[in-house]
Amino acid sequence: MTRTNKSKKGITENILQFPSNRSKKLKKVLVAGGAGFLGSHLCELLLATDHDVICVDDLSTGRVENINHLFDLPNFAFRRHDVRSTLNVKVDAIFNFASPASPPAYQADPIGTLFTNIIGARNLLELARRRDATIVQASTSEVYGDPLVSPQREDYHGNVSPIGPRACYDEGKRCAETQFFDFHRLFGLKIKVARIFNTYGPRMRPDDGRVVSNFIVQALRNEPITIYGSGLQTRSFCYVDDLIGGFLKFLNTSPDVTGPINLGNPTELTMIDLAERIIRLTNSKSPIVHQLAAVDDPQRRRPDISLAAAQLGWRPYVDIEDGLLSTIAYFDRILRHAAANN
Ligand code: NAD
Ligand code: UDP
Repeated sequence: MTRTNKSKKGITENILQFPSNRSKKLKKVLVAGGAGFLGSHLCELLLATDHDVICVDDLSTGRVENINHLFDLPNFAFRRHDVRSTLNVKVDAIFNFASPASPPAYQADPIGTLFTNIIGARNLLELARRRDATIVQASTSEVYGDPLVSPQREDYHGNVSPIGPRACYDEGKRCAETQFFDFHRLFGLKIKVARIFNTYGPRMRPDDGRVVSNFIVQALRNEPITIYGSGLQTRSFCYVDDLIGGFLKFLNTSPDVTGPINLGNPTELTMIDLAERIIRLTNSKSPIVHQLAAVDDPQRRRPDISLAAAQLGWRPYVDIEDGLLSTIAYFDRILRHAAANN
């Protein structure tokens, strides 16, 4: 993986200076959705910090290429499995990353998305209960919907349409959080809920459909950069290494630290600003074109990360331009490779 020096600093600061990450108590870890963009980085980090990893994935949006380099490691195992069906494995900890995350992907099969988030979470919670395992949920800033307050703190209850095209994902994730907290209250389950804000980096798919991958691929091909709507809507982008470091820190907190905790980078950009930066960093000739706005598209998104700072000692380190350069280098490599093989 290509990393900038600042990115390496982020990893070092957030992970290696935290000795309890080498805890032996949570040795065997299941990563549901482990062949996806974020899940594969998490598998890598868990293996690098002395854990045994069982990666479970139905490969619907994930790819074997993301984890190919891990197959030969003795402490890594992969099982192709849909979390909507029950599973039984011996584990000390579970990360639930299993869900499509890109709007085109989750809207392509809305009922499947809803049930992956509701039934999948339920199955993993039952597994955690049987094994007395800690369970960590990859929740999302989408639980805040189109927020009426900014930045978003964890005590904001959100502004979500229950009937729009994003609802299968937003309400699925909200319901998953509900189940996590009910299992915690009813059975004393050790839960940890992280709300991830837009995260980007190497291993995103070129055809994933999210904004960073779309803009970079379009810029590298000198094709028009497609801005949906005015482009004045904002997002706050976190580099993958920073985010994954936060998850490891969260895993190793005491059981009373349940979250929800926001994990994201508070630097807020408009989509026009993002497009212009990517055009500059790729030295692209792409024009910017405006297309129809997406229905129910949140207009502002920015995390308040004071809880993550206080409870995890976490903050992001990777500057947006360093993270974009690293991601551009990744896409440049895979597009060249694809072109050479055609
Ligand atoms: P991704 O699509 O690359 O990864 C999701 C993984 O889950 C894929 O490998 C996919 O094959 C797997 N999966 C989907 N449905 C499954 C099922 N029913 N059974 C088993 N596996 C299944 O997306 P990502 O960006 O890596 O997101 C990972 C998690 O983080 C998701 O839960 C997503 O909601 C959450 N999240 C991501 C972001 C982000 O910006 N990347 C933001 C908020 C939340
Ligand atoms: N977006 C865009 N052009 C694209 C893809 C997305 O302008 O080619 C916009 C989208 O409308 C949204 C923002 O970029 O306002 C972030 O979209 P993304 O799908 O990455 O994530 P999410 O909407 O889930 O935050």
